[in-house]
Amino acid sequence: MATKSLKGQIGVTTDNIFPVIKQFLYSDKEIFLRELVANAVDATRKLQALAQSGEPVGPAEDLKVRVELDEKKKVLSITDSGIGMTEEEVDKYINQIAFSSAGEFLDKYKDQIGSIIGHFGLGFYSAFMVSKKVTIDTLSWKEGAKAVKWSCDGSPEYSIEEGKRTERGTTVTLYLDDDSEEYAAKGRIEQLLGKYCKFMPVPVVFGKKTEWKDGKSVETDEDNVVNDIEPIWTKSPAELKDEDYLKFYHALYPMDEDPMFWIHLNVDYPFTLTGVLYFPRIKERMAIDKNKIQLYCNQMFVTDHVDNIVPDFLTLLHGVIDSPDIPLNVSRSYLQSDANVKKISTYITKKVADRLEEIFKEQRSQLEEKWDNIKLFIEYGMLSDEKFCERAMEFALMKNTDGKYFSLADYRTAIEPAQTDKDKKVVYLYATDTEGQYAYIEAAKNQGYDVLLMDCDLDSHFVNLLESKLGDARFARVDSDSADRLIPKEEKLKPEMSDDDKKALDELFKAVLPEGTDWMVQAENLGETAAPILITRSEFMRRYREMSSLGGGMNFYGTLPESYNLVVNMENPVIAKIWEERDKDSALLHQAVDLALLGSGLLKGKALAEFISRSQELLGK
Ligand code: ADP
Repeated sequence: MATKSLKGQIGVTTDNIFPVIKQFLYSDKEIFLRELVANAVDATRKLQALAQSGEPVGPAEDLKVRVELDEKKKVLSITDSGIGMTEEEVDKYINQIAFSSAGEFLDKYKDQIGSIIGHFGLGFYSAFMVSKKVTIDTLSWKEGAKAVKWSCDGSPEYSIEEGKRTERGTTVTLYLDDDSEEYAAKGRIEQLLGKYCKFMPVPVVFGKKTEWKDGKSVETDEDNVVNDIEPIWTKSPAELKDEDYLKFYHALYPMDEDPMFWIHLNVDYPFTLTGVLYFPRIKERMAIDKNKIQLYCNQMFVTDHVDNIVPDFLTLLHGVIDSPDIPLNVSRSYLQSDANVKKISTYITKKVADRLEEIFKEQRSQLEEKWDNIKLFIEYGMLSDEKFCERAMEFALMKNTDGKYFSLADYRTAIEPAQTDKDKKVVYLYATDTEGQYAYIEAAKNQGYDVLLMDCDLDSHFVNLLESKLGDARFARVDSDSADRLIPKEEKLKPEMSDDDKKALDELFKAVLPEGTDWMVQAENLGETAAPILITRSEFMRRYREMSSLGGGMNFYGTLPESYNLVVNMENPVIAKIWEERDKDSALLHQAVDLALLGSGLLKGKALAEFISRSQELLGK
């Protein structure tokens, strides 16, 4: 093919592919820049490889890719000093292969094009998404090669002729079309380079560095390199210090606080994966940003939607993963069933568990210090991933209401002697609010029990999970029963009462109890010195209410009114007196009930005001 000037028809079956490309990929137009810079980077790397193997390629030092923009003329160009292309190569790679692959691509994915991630494969032709005309000026490294100029205006016709280029490499020039004027702005190109090219492995230059002189910013002679060609995930952990990891984190997320831990991923068999994942500081579930992990393919940004590549709970992590083994131009549903993706997901989960176990064993105090901040993440992981849960049973911590931390195994050993009930179940007592449940916590401690603090969003689910995992164990919130009955050691005798008496007791107390709440009045013998009245909440009912409200919808339990038990201690002398009088208007009855309500935080509004004035009256007498 030595023709001086050649015109041809691009070998695509579709009549005119460009309107199709433009239409289908409209929303992701901006990826054209990544594709073109990536091609330039590839060509440069290939040249470096040839130079290393001793081929006479000419100068191979300090090679850079240059992006240049003429804002006025709306012309954008990408230049490399890579291997270039001969006329045959332009014909083969650009006219035939690339065009036909674009055609095949569109044919194959016509129906699901909207859901395709990555959008790879269109490569060079994505330039037509934003251009009315594209030219390639190229000179191959091969001895005796002639410069070639290729040009195409968006119709399937192209022209190819001898070029004027004298330096090895390629320049792709885009004459931006009117719909794509936004890319004729320096700021927009800077933004795209920052998003897609930040870690590409060859320096990418866009304009000159600027400096402040006499109150304004002026250009210097120095190239403005937009990327870091050796980001930390490409290095070996041995050459990195904590500062390096922190610096990288802040470069990725300038607004975030320091992360708590990180994991350096590095595997090359049976798939290739590198990366650094960070545990961010998490305080509230609602405040967590997902989509903070960035996926790269050989240092080229692909996406920050990794939902199908890492397990859901790990999307809470931040950082970077880089793998050439994740198929990119396929639909999301396909991705989920891909064997490599599954292995990668399993691998990451395992690495995260390994790292946490290591911290547990070697830096226990650090883990305790940071536990409150990562607990939500670990609980979420345990609830959603069976394998992770198994591992986490080893390193998960529990915190009691005195702020002490225990491993699950140590905690069980500590409480087993005092907190095993008559059915041989170990009863884990917990509080969800140290202030609100203060009286109950103290009462339980006075019995010689320990009380856990479970105040995290997911704890009501987590408690269920632990009950199923721990075996012979049961969780009870401190206010689910009177302190001496939280962990029943033997059957207590209930007061002997006739059905009529029970009914009378029920009516007597319900007459003074607030409405809108479901009350169960229970007569018990708790001893002469124990409080006259106790208010408790059924563990079962409370947990289901909480879980249904967490789940968002209101299920059956969620629609029930709040329910409480009113435990009346028949052995208490005050109760004995009230019971003897059986008077609904008795001041003593009101005072005893209100005092119990007050202790449980249930006395509010008008009832509280009345209680106070009645108490003042009593004091005055
Ligand atoms: P892909 O990069 O996925 O192979 P492209 O359509 O982007 O698909 O490019 C097709 C081919 O054209 C490349 O494989 C390469 O051989 C050639 N090519 C594209 N850009 C350049 C360049 N800047 N320098 C040298 N060759 C290039």
